[in-house]
Amino acid sequence: MVKLTRRQIVRHAAVGLLFTITPVAALAKAAQQFVAVRIWPANAYTRITLEAAQAMKYKHFTLDNPARLVVDIEGATLNNVLQTIAAKVQRNDPYIANIRVGQNTATTVRVVIDLKQAINPQVFTLAPVANFRNRLVIDLYPSAATALAAEADDPLMALLNDYSKGKIRSDGTSNNGAVPPVKERAPAIVDTPSPSRPLHRKPIIVLDPGHGGEDPGAIGPSGLREKNVVLAIARETKKRLDAMGYKTYMTRNEDVFIPLGVRVAKARSLKADLFISIHADSFTSPSARGTGVYALSTRGATSAAARFLEQTQNNADLIGGVQKVGNKNVDSTLFDMTQTATIKDSLVLGRNVLNELGKLNKLHKGHVDQANFAVLRAPDIPSILVETAFLSNPTEEKLLASSSFRQRSAAAIANGVKAYLSKAVLARR
Ligand SMILES: [Zn+2]
Repeated sequence: MVKLTRRQIVRHAAVGLLFTITPVAALAKAAQQFVAVRIWPANAYTRITLEAAQAMKYKHFTLDNPARLVVDIEGATLNNVLQTIAAKVQRNDPYIANIRVGQNTATTVRVVIDLKQAINPQVFTLAPVANFRNRLVIDLYPSAATALAAEADDPLMALLNDYSKGKIRSDGTSNNGAVPPVKERAPAIVDTPSPSRPLHRKPIIVLDPGHGGEDPGAIGPSGLREKNVVLAIARETKKRLDAMGYKTYMTRNEDVFIPLGVRVAKARSLKADLFISIHADSFTSPSARGTGVYALSTRGATSAAARFLEQTQNNADLIGGVQKVGNKNVDSTLFDMTQTATIKDSLVLGRNVLNELGKLNKLHKGHVDQANFAVLRAPDIPSILVETAFLSNPTEEKLLASSSFRQRSAAAIANGVKAYLSKAVLARR
């Protein structure tokens, strides 16, 4: 039973033409439906998530003067969970000024989002996955013009814009039906990086802190979230790589969900020489521990642990929530040859980084493991995924929470990259 207080009724009435007040008796029939609401403000885009027990039907439209996005949810009843949404809007949200909710008809809930700037909305539903129930996702992207203007500094906004239109595949290549343009490369030498890799300029390194926003990644026994740990470690790593004279970018530098394909597309668009994804591991058994480094396997995981991880990591897109997932591996001999050479280089890079990480923590395994991680699929960029430690292990969770371990991990990753790149230079002489 939903009761509107007199104050609420007055407040709803004050909202104006958009809402009509429905008699309380009519509201009582429908079940309370919303179980959670979340807002993830970020510069790249702001996401609003409404979570409900049942699947949601919706319509949306925009209004000008002032700019608003209106979402009508059918077969729904306003409840006190949904009413908390207004209080969740942060003052520094780049896109949202205010959110109002009301029972628009006996069976329709109306959400009105007052906007700070023109936006390109993406509204979609997600089926239950992991701990999430039915979700209605409202993503507020900057308008195309704003995205284009921001591209000079960082291609992320333009790529997200392309992604939201289904133009980017899960391997980061563009989805225009053609074989992605990759550079032909000679096969790599077994233990040194491929001499064919052109490094005539400052090497470009892309750091990829895993998860973000709606996708927390692993959560430690005391509540530490992987997305926050890995962002902190990536920022420290960037400082060190920049100080070494490399050009370093991050796939995300805020608490935002970035689809896996967009992360790879960003690295390709920046013409990255190396791609390093940073994570913290988790396993069903709390005793699992140790640092690990992974390279891509095109055939699937090489070990049971890698298989488990492959599933959970590739789930990120489902948990974080994406509307369209680009798909299908491209079948082309050139593509395969290039990827094979790239994987060999990735393994060499991985060994260099693992050697350094082995100095500060027990290694989960003595070698670089391989799995079919979506985020490592750039066909022409050596890519590794670093599992800094096990967040599911109480001892290692404490390590991951400590600033000194984060800094030493960052230093180890940077030193491993430096060792790899100095060999790459030697190999060219
Ligand atoms: Zn992860």
